[in-house]
Amino acid sequence: MKLRKTKQKQLIEQVLITDAAAEGNAIAKVDEMVIFVPFVVPGDVVDLEIYRKKKSFAQAKAVKIHKYSDKRVEQKCPHFTQCGGCKWQTLEYSEQVKYKQQQVRDNLERIGKVDCSNMQSILPSENIYYYRNKLEFTFSTKQWVENPNDEKSPQGALGFHAPSFFDKVIDIQHCVLQDDISNQLRNHIREYSKERNLEYYNIRNHVGFLRGMIVRTSSTGELMLIVIFAKQSEEIKLLLDNVKQHFPQITSLMYCINEKLNDSISDQDILLYSGNDHITETMQAYNSDKTLKFKIRPKTFYQTNPCQAERLYSIAADFAEIKPTDTVYDLYTGTGTIANYIAHLAQKVVGVEYVEDAVEDARLNSEYNQINNTTFIAGDMAKILTDDFIAEHGTPDVVITDPPRAGMAESVVNQLIKIKARKIVYISCNPATQARDLEMLSPYYQVGKIRPVDMFPHTHHVENVVELSLIETK
Ligand code: SAH
Repeated sequence: MKLRKTKQKQLIEQVLITDAAAEGNAIAKVDEMVIFVPFVVPGDVVDLEIYRKKKSFAQAKAVKIHKYSDKRVEQKCPHFTQCGGCKWQTLEYSEQVKYKQQQVRDNLERIGKVDCSNMQSILPSENIYYYRNKLEFTFSTKQWVENPNDEKSPQGALGFHAPSFFDKVIDIQHCVLQDDISNQLRNHIREYSKERNLEYYNIRNHVGFLRGMIVRTSSTGELMLIVIFAKQSEEIKLLLDNVKQHFPQITSLMYCINEKLNDSISDQDILLYSGNDHITETMQAYNSDKTLKFKIRPKTFYQTNPCQAERLYSIAADFAEIKPTDTVYDLYTGTGTIANYIAHLAQKVVGVEYVEDAVEDARLNSEYNQINNTTFIAGDMAKILTDDFIAEHGTPDVVITDPPRAGMAESVVNQLIKIKARKIVYISCNPATQARDLEMLSPYYQVGKIRPVDMFPHTHHVENVVELSLIETK
């Protein structure tokens, strides 16, 4: 290994990449310093250009690859290294899941002091490409290009935001995350907008017409397209009619006029142009012949890898061992998918979630499936899960909890300790905060089964399901 300083940048030659790290990076170690490098895989030997250096770690770019790791595979995505969405693509999938399993183990052991000797092996995703059911694309006058000399389209770009730029967008030609219809729709709308000379939106000076588009697909074959415009115009009808004519498979064609300065449409009306105001997703209820149907409206949250979500829920339900007389709480229920999936096993299920619209969707989904033993309550978990709440809704025998990345608030964990449910099943998308919460629960709950699940191939994200049983005190 040789260390050389070029004009401003430090170059380190012939470095072996040794491990995978957070945020989809890989790691090299040089003289006790940890160097984070994207788009390389363990086993590669590379030259590194350091662009950021701190006391104990640095960030670098691989500028030359001398030896390719035998764990390398060819990337599928033509935008790899630009987009940053699927950074682990060149690492064999079986290796990706190994690193994820290890990441869960490390967190649970180090932070949570959990005995992981009986941890089950990670459940890999059935599909590793085209697994998502939702993608959002942005129009921008500012096209991001890798090389400043690359040619840019005069109109701008339609695709994903370039990493760490709020205004620049990569012109996406093919994304390997969603069914190819999504590529066809996006590329068609790009061509159409060029032909008609429609302006793309500039988020800095707030000028322009086309702002974004969202494609939602479903295993039922239903297809939703939402196009977001910046202002009213007769071009809206022309564009939507054109899309409708070219894509008769769209079952829900919607649009939104967002005149605000920011891109969020959560507070905007989404209008129906043609077809239905929702698409439908289906899922078998746990260990049952009953097919559940979920209505997905434009703003409805639904797990983005639906096939794997069903398998995740099934693991959670296995761990929960619900009895017909049980009261079950489904905390952080979102649109109530888990609550509805397990409702037939329990006497009653209470779902709690703070997004009011999601709670409304959860109720509609129960109604839609003739499920009568669920109750959904909107509110912030830390405020709502009080003694009065428990007196009103009944003490749960089983709690399923699926908090966001921050994990559960300390007061929520303390309340769970007070509630003393027979069992807690903890689903997490962040093993570090899960480990912290498990440590707090450890004097009262024994960790049983543990199983990580991969929902997002080629990214560093990992879910983990843990079974906790109440330690009986005399
Ligand atoms: N279990 C659901 C969704 C889990 S995502 C599913 O599988 O589909 C986590 C959910 O927690 C989100 O819906 C989010 O809105 C909700 N949430 C986050 N913080 C919360 C809080 N403090 N109180 C209540 N709900 C919260």
